[in-house]
Amino acid sequence: MPGESVAEFRTALMHLKDRLARPGAQGAGPLIRGVTPEQIEAALARLERGTYGVCHSCYLLIPKGELLRRPYAESCKRCEERRVGPRGKKAGTHVSQP
Ligand SMILES: [Zn+2]
Repeated sequence: MPGESVAEFRTALMHLKDRLARPGAQGAGPLIRGVTPEQIEAALARLERGTYGVCHSCYLLIPKGELLRRPYAESCKRCEERRVGPRGKKAGTHVSQP
């Protein structure tokens, strides 16, 4: 990931961390829902190590647009959905990997 993107995501994560640290973070938007400070810390650590943006499950790069929505994401949308399970979703739309 280019240096400027690293800086961009570091700033985004720092902002999230600030918002989480605020007592009674009620003004928190949907972005912050269900996010723990540990997730933010882990994402910052990945930035330092240079492994940021790589999915933990399939080791593919998480699309930047996805990271902008969820800078703390540790897996791509597809793996995330697989982990959470297709509950409430119609079966048969599953894309199988070779
Ligand atoms: Zn993945």
